[in-house]
Amino acid sequence: MNLVFLGPPGAGKGTQAVDIAKERGICHISTGDILRKAVRDGTPTGLKAKAFMDAGELVPDDVVVDIVTDALAAPDCASGWILDGFPRTLPQARALDAGTSRLGLPGVQLVLFFNVPDDVVVSRLSGRRMCRACGASFHIDFMPPAAEGVCDKCGGQLYQRDDDRPDTVRNRLAAYRKDTEPLVSFYRDKGLLRDVKGDAGPGDVRRFIDDILGEGL
Ligand code: AMP
Repeated sequence: MNLVFLGPPGAGKGTQAVDIAKERGICHISTGDILRKAVRDGTPTGLKAKAFMDAGELVPDDVVVDIVTDALAAPDCASGWILDGFPRTLPQARALDAGTSRLGLPGVQLVLFFNVPDDVVVSRLSGRRMCRACGASFHIDFMPPAAEGVCDKCGGQLYQRDDDRPDTVRNRLAAYRKDTEPLVSFYRDKGLLRDVKGDAGPGDVRRFIDDILGEGL
């Protein structure tokens, strides 16, 4: 099963992708997570990406396309994948098609579009807290951890991402509207897109996704 999770930042793509990938034994490729690790590790990719990420802008296409092409070729992705936060531009979507066919791999089978209004995005991101150790995501009001500042899943320390602060969130939303939203009609025209009403709670969103994935995948 090869899936793309598409939608604005804070739409709940990562929360759902982590659980679904684990349950179905497929790999979860989050370009945001891979880039944040590269920045932390100070790799050449991280050094290229850091200024764009700090500003809430998109990292250049060639950087993220290389990351995803390498990840898809890894053996643990052979049984399927969820791409979370990629593609984010039309050139990335075309490069994904070209890359999978060059590697002789099956391409995108389904795109789940997490549709969430801007005011919900802003309130979700401003209260979001991430686990430093396992990447799990919480919300101080809507999905609080059992103990403040501590990850329920692994006991790791929770923190607020720098780019979840209000002015960076506005830039991320602007980048989404300009560069990423055109992918909705790109994939709808190919007959691959399914709409997910993303502004419900995580349990309801999950049931909605399971109904969609039950359609023969
Ligand atoms: P995310 O965690 O998916 O919200 O990504 C965090 C940041 O990483 C974004 O604001 C971008 O700067 C960068 N990024 C992640 N994925 C991509 C992508 N597919 N294309 C360009 N930039 C990306």
